[in-house]
Amino acid sequence: MNNENQFELKISDVPKIERPNKRLKIVGSNTFEYEIFKLVDETDPILSEPAQAYDFDNPIIEPAYLVLSLIETMRKKFGIGIAAPQVGLSTRVVALGGFDDRSPSYVMFNPIILESSGEVVMKEGCLSYPGLFLNVKRESTVKVAWFDAAQKPQEREFTGLTARIVLHELDHLDGVCFTRLVPKVSLDIAKGKVKANLKKLKKQNDAERKKELMATAMKNLYLEGLKNKQAPDLL
Ligand SMILES: [Zn+2]
Repeated sequence: MNNENQFELKISDVPKIERPNKRLKIVGSNTFEYEIFKLVDETDPILSEPAQAYDFDNPIIEPAYLVLSLIETMRKKFGIGIAAPQVGLSTRVVALGGFDDRSPSYVMFNPIILESSGEVVMKEGCLSYPGLFLNVKRESTVKVAWFDAAQKPQEREFTGLTARIVLHELDHLDGVCFTRLVPKVSLDIAKGKVKANLKKLKKQNDAERKKELMATAMKNLYLEGLKNKQAPDLL
């Protein structure tokens, strides 16, 4: 953590605007500020409107603060992906990751799809629709370009579950929820199972599961960064 190439983030770099729910995370000699965002209700119009581009010159929230807040909110809600509109922010930023031991986390500012191909049906859930699971057909491979928190351009191809999450989250930035991607009859059937699913999820959501998910997420977020001699997942 003392490497001079390390991503510098000092207290003075964190947002000047007062955020009442601000928390602190201390990693090594660095202190990071963040908050756990409140998810908007599934009926909130922000979920069906295209989000605004993230403006690095006049940010809705400072990039580092937004990155950590999105990741911590996602972890807290046991999600594997989250888009800014889901927490009431109309800005084109998504976070994903922490779903298995080998997967790093990504936070993408102004992501765009460069290419996509293949087709696969997979069961999906969404933080905005707790307990609702839908079989959604999407491309199986996607190549995305985005800016990281330091405004550096990034580009990467994703497959499998990660491609699925990327496509789901990028849809949120265009005001498209997964409920719009299935026939009405399938949606109605799935809605009928929500209550039972929530009950099941609540049962699973015991201390053991929490411990396991937290350990995995922590490992992904921090060990990856340490291994690369970078600050935790802020690049
Ligand atoms: Zn979603």
